[in-house]
Amino acid sequence: MSDVDLIVQRLELRGHRVTGSRRSVLEALASAAAHFTVDDVLHLAPGVGRATVFRTMKLLQDLNVVCRVLMEDGSLHYRLSMRGHHHHLVCRSCGRVEDFSNCDVSSLVDQLRQVTEYEIEGHWLEVYGKCASCRILEQVEVPA
Ligand SMILES: [Zn+2]
Ligand SMILES: [Zn+2]
Ligand SMILES: [Zn+2]
Repeated sequence: MSDVDLIVQRLELRGHRVTGSRRSVLEALASAAAHFTVDDVLHLAPGVGRATVFRTMKLLQDLNVVCRVLMEDGSLHYRLSMRGHHHHLVCRSCGRVEDFSNCDVSSLVDQLRQVTEYEIEGHWLEVYGKCASCRILEQVEVPA
């Protein structure tokens, strides 16, 4: 089953209608790069309005089909992901994004809840660095 079919199935299971323009957005997401901006989606789904793209992206986030990645330059990218709660490792040199899910912030959350009396609803964590390939490239380019 393709990514698009899987997402359509998930939408329909939750009672959402998959209209022609929603399907175009899904097909654009499936053909986009590993992570992409709303503008990329607009280019890949010509004929679908900006508002529809934004609404569809929001819906897909709510359904845990798409996640957001905060790039180091402050731009917000999106990524197809159905893996549930996770975080990103972002390479500052080549922009590669990898997922990791073993985040352990429960003790911090407990502590915050006690100190601030907040009801904690979520957290966001991105880790920035330089991936292994970029580090190797740098070693090749810089003579010892
Ligand atoms: Zn993600
Ligand atoms: Zn890299
Ligand atoms: Zn987490």
